[in-house]
Amino acid sequence: MLSNQNPPQFAELALPLPLRQTFTYRLPSAFRESAQIGSRLLVPFGKRNLTGYIVELHELLDESLGIEESKLKDAIELLDEIPLVTAEILKLTNWTADYYASSWGEVLKASLPAGVNVESEQIIVITSTGRDELLKITTAKTVKVQMLRHLAEHEEVSMRSLTKLFGSSTSRNVRDLVNRNWVSTFQRTLSTKAKPKRRKAVRLLPTEFHQPENKPLNESQQKVIEILLENDGEIGFVELLEEANISASVIQTLEKRGFAQTFVREVFRDPLIGAKIPNAQNLTLTDEQTAVFTQLETALVSASYKAFLLYGVTGSGKTEIYIRAMRSALDKGKSALMLVPEIALTPVFSRRLRQVFGDEVAILHSNLSTGERFDEWRRIRSGSAKVVIGTRSAIFAPLVNVGIIIVDEEHDGSYRQQESPFYNARDVAVVRANFANAIVVLGSATPSLETYFNVEQGKYTLLNLPNRIGNRPLAKAELVDMRNAFKEQGKDEVFSNELLTAITETHSKGEQSIILLNRRGYSSFVLCRSCGESIKCKNCDITLTYHRRENVLMCHYCGFRAKVPTVCPLCESKFIYFVGEGTEQLEDILRRKFSGLRIERIDRDTMNRRGRLEDILQNFAEHKIDMLVGTQMLAKGHDFPNVTLVGVVSVDAGLALPDFRSAERTFQLLTQVAGRAGRGILQGRVIIQTFHPEHYALQHACRQDYDKFYAEEVRFRKNLRYPPFVALASILVHHASLNFAHDNAQILKESLQKFNLERHAGILGPAPAPLARLKGEHRLQILVKAVNRKKLRELLDFALHDAQEKFCDMKTVNVEIDPINLL
Ligand code: ADP
Ligand code: ZN
Ligand code: ZN
Repeated sequence: MLSNQNPPQFAELALPLPLRQTFTYRLPSAFRESAQIGSRLLVPFGKRNLTGYIVELHELLDESLGIEESKLKDAIELLDEIPLVTAEILKLTNWTADYYASSWGEVLKASLPAGVNVESEQIIVITSTGRDELLKITTAKTVKVQMLRHLAEHEEVSMRSLTKLFGSSTSRNVRDLVNRNWVSTFQRTLSTKAKPKRRKAVRLLPTEFHQPENKPLNESQQKVIEILLENDGEIGFVELLEEANISASVIQTLEKRGFAQTFVREVFRDPLIGAKIPNAQNLTLTDEQTAVFTQLETALVSASYKAFLLYGVTGSGKTEIYIRAMRSALDKGKSALMLVPEIALTPVFSRRLRQVFGDEVAILHSNLSTGERFDEWRRIRSGSAKVVIGTRSAIFAPLVNVGIIIVDEEHDGSYRQQESPFYNARDVAVVRANFANAIVVLGSATPSLETYFNVEQGKYTLLNLPNRIGNRPLAKAELVDMRNAFKEQGKDEVFSNELLTAITETHSKGEQSIILLNRRGYSSFVLCRSCGESIKCKNCDITLTYHRRENVLMCHYCGFRAKVPTVCPLCESKFIYFVGEGTEQLEDILRRKFSGLRIERIDRDTMNRRGRLEDILQNFAEHKIDMLVGTQMLAKGHDFPNVTLVGVVSVDAGLALPDFRSAERTFQLLTQVAGRAGRGILQGRVIIQTFHPEHYALQHACRQDYDKFYAEEVRFRKNLRYPPFVALASILVHHASLNFAHDNAQILKESLQKFNLERHAGILGPAPAPLARLKGEHRLQILVKAVNRKKLRELLDFALHDAQEKFCDMKTVNVEIDPINLL
């Protein structure tokens, strides 16, 4: 422990850079006393300033590290007097960074709400000498002159924007201009910092403040006093003006006479402001629910780590159990954390939580504004919010004394962060519960294979809710064989007669429908219209991806290539076709065929516009819309009792994705979809169009038979050595130059082979990643399948280090442990 006599002189920082190391800085004496572990520090790094997180403080430098004190830089500014990051979150982010082989600083940055991170940029301004010089130059059109002109026309220009305009030699040119004293540069702090919001408010003053003046209060003045009394003596300034219907001068007079006082108060932005709070329902738990709840309650009381899988069909009342278990944790003086997938956080659910938990609940999801997110986060950090509901990054919420962590729809892909720092919030949740001696509940109607496998291994305890509330039947799912539709209708029909008839019938009864276009990923592949077969890699049993430019089929796991066949290799039919982009027209077709129906579409665009999605869902709930058309995001979470038909167009696109999880994803999607139809008293129908009706994922999904699906899928994973039977890592090399990417990938591959002498791992590739080009960069992928996680990490650590020494450019390399989407 550090004593007060010897304040620390050095801080060890985690910086938000893709580097797996910490950095030592000297602490200027000004903030040696107040610097604490978990506080942020602004420090110089190269040409810019960065926000780092203090992870250790030293009184003296550890000589064994061989750091030369004279080379250390001084920290610029201490950004927090009270540490922003708690000890628990430091430990959790450190574990996360280590497990996923990523940077601690990046994980810390991702754990904090946007808006608390400070960065700086270099600004260039023209000097008066520069301006004089520019007047003298009349003809020359060199880059430097053009630069000077640009600077003369703009007050301040950042190095970044200048480089965009003038290319890679910009910094050299700027240095030259600085040397001639024509321009000068300085660092400007980019303050994206969210600030607490302040509001003017009015409060009532006690009688001893009243001015000795006998004039009675007039009517509007009295009105103000009344309103203040009704509001416990305090109200927002603007609200008061509106409510009393007066001008500001009335308040000024009252202030002068000592009846009231205006002041500024800090307000928390409430993401649920104006939300209609539904009436409390007091449900009695069913026997099945009670059995589950009792087990959770017992575990909560024992206050030690325990992991559960709550496997309950859609509509079995899981949500009710989550809410009660969280309530119970609160009653025991603990806090509670619940993760939900990106889309499931509908306003309806948030309101229900507000109804149960009032101000004790904080909500963190991606549709909040920076300010709202910042405020919700501060309410958690200060301890005033004890229940947190949020998407992925909420797993790092700074709650103390966590008693229960719930992960709803634990199989959902949105728990996986798809960019650096990669992590899976579901898996971090289990670790956090373990560190905190808390219980963790993973809930799903279609548990991920990994989670169910953990149940079989005895790591998680299984809780079951096999029946729907009120024993409502699950919707009947029917497969429509599109090969027959093709034979009957002959041409390129996207909709089968069965689906079209069902749509007509449904709406003639005044019921509603949802049509799903299951389309994800961007790759195209080849499908036979007669037999429904897609063409697979002979090594990997993964669909080959079609590359238009080279006109070849390629395996994105191992790099195998094949010519595009002219007839189907299985049935020899020549009706081979390419499935690819371009589904927007499906909505148009539906609009044309059913011109009388009110049809709305939900896609990424709608998702990104705030309020738009809510409006559509609200209108659909109120039956102002007849049919919703959308991608799989429509399949989750919503509860529309009047929806009796769900149609799934082209389920094959999902099945054929070049990803070993494609069958599992399809099974999950269809089970979720079936859960959408017939939520009310009306019986629901689900129609799935496919060229592949015999596929086991579809067969089992139709019968809602998870156990059979699991058994078959586990066999596939075991035989072909996929997780959970191997520990998987994907190494992605990306660069604008394909040659450069290739050279780096080759170094990596050789390093991996060099340390894989005992053959504990299979090394596949380098092959083009499924998204072979993204944002102008080429992407190559190496897959490593190791016998276990320990061997995987050993191999990666040695190999990455070795590759770096052989001048592999690590900036082009992303390592992903347990990748979810191989895209
Ligand atoms: P899940 O989360 O498993 O899909 P929900 O929790 O959404 O299921 O429950 C489905 C429906 O049943 C909801 O409308 C919910 O209000 C209702 N419900 C849940 N538990 C009960 C109960 N014990 N008695 C009556 N209705 C219930
Ligand atoms: Zn065929
Ligand atoms: Zn292959």
